[in-house]
Amino acid sequence: MTETIDINITKTKHSKIHEADLEKPQFGSVYSDHMFLADYSNGQWQDLRIVPYGNLSISPANTTLHYASTIFEGLKANRSADGEILVFRPDANARRLQVSAERMCMPPVPEELFMSGLTELLKLDSSWVPSAPGTSLYIRPLQLAMDPYIGIRPSNSYQFLIITGPVGAYYAEPVKVKIETKYTRAAQGGTGFAKTGGNYAAALKPAVDAQKEGFNQLIWTDAKTHEFVEESGTMNLMFVINDTLVTAPAGDTILNGITRDSIIQLAKDKGMKVEERPVRVSEVIDSIKNGSMQEAFGAGTAATVAQIKLIHHEGVDYHLPPVEDWKYSADFLDTLTKIKTGEIPDPHNWIYKI
Ligand code: PMP
Repeated sequence: MTETIDINITKTKHSKIHEADLEKPQFGSVYSDHMFLADYSNGQWQDLRIVPYGNLSISPANTTLHYASTIFEGLKANRSADGEILVFRPDANARRLQVSAERMCMPPVPEELFMSGLTELLKLDSSWVPSAPGTSLYIRPLQLAMDPYIGIRPSNSYQFLIITGPVGAYYAEPVKVKIETKYTRAAQGGTGFAKTGGNYAAALKPAVDAQKEGFNQLIWTDAKTHEFVEESGTMNLMFVINDTLVTAPAGDTILNGITRDSIIQLAKDKGMKVEERPVRVSEVIDSIKNGSMQEAFGAGTAATVAQIKLIHHEGVDYHLPPVEDWKYSADFLDTLTKIKTGEIPDPHNWIYKI
């Protein structure tokens, strides 16, 4: 697959790897030596290249800077005990980037281009994949409109980039979340299912307000009635109610999370009942009150699983049962972590080896 695509490589003369703390890397503060780039113009992706990581030169009239014509992905690579570099489900991220592109009126990045760029970049920067327990290499693919034009229309030129950086162990403390009933993240017909910059910019104020009130995150509800729960922060939301895994269907307003999809598969593998259906706020509250809610957690690439110990709704705190006793989410986290690091077999071909 990779042989057919030509990538020009310019190596850095000044590797920064010796300045990086690969034992305890900080999220988002250190980037690997190189980045992958491809340009889209005249209806074609071209000039595929890997260059030293560095700033971009962008016109002040760049359409992305004004109108957020940008989409991205997030995935991770891990180092196995015998030193191999294992990427978790990159093909799913490549396909989701295309889904986002379609919604945002951008040309799709072909899956082969995505995979070849990723493969060559990770081969070159393989020493940046950390090996300490819990650490990984975060991979951020990004596509943006590049026309230096401030009129509103789809751009004719685009850039696709991949940058990477080592990230530390995410010791997820159980979180306190607030059910948001004023602001919304996504509405029917909107862009909630796309990973596009504006969704995240618009979520900042509600999230910061909730943090000021002492909550780690929000649970988003539907835009129309605020009666149905959707996602938690930037994770999909999952519950265990009466030994059944319950989660809202990924659709117009909910991102089709790859961790969510993987957990649903693992649950089915072990014979657990799974229900993908709309979940009412009242059901969440009632099932906490009557004791049928056993576990609640967020699912996403950053933490894999973030257990929720408290849910706040309209002035009242609802406490989940003691997190130490939870077996389902702890088991999903353990199994996924072991598949990602190659400790146990990969029954669904999720691992892509560099
Ligand atoms: N929802 C939103 C809004 C997100 O940004 C993310 C992170 N990509 C997720 C859910 C979880 O998706 P994934 O498991 O693919 O990381």
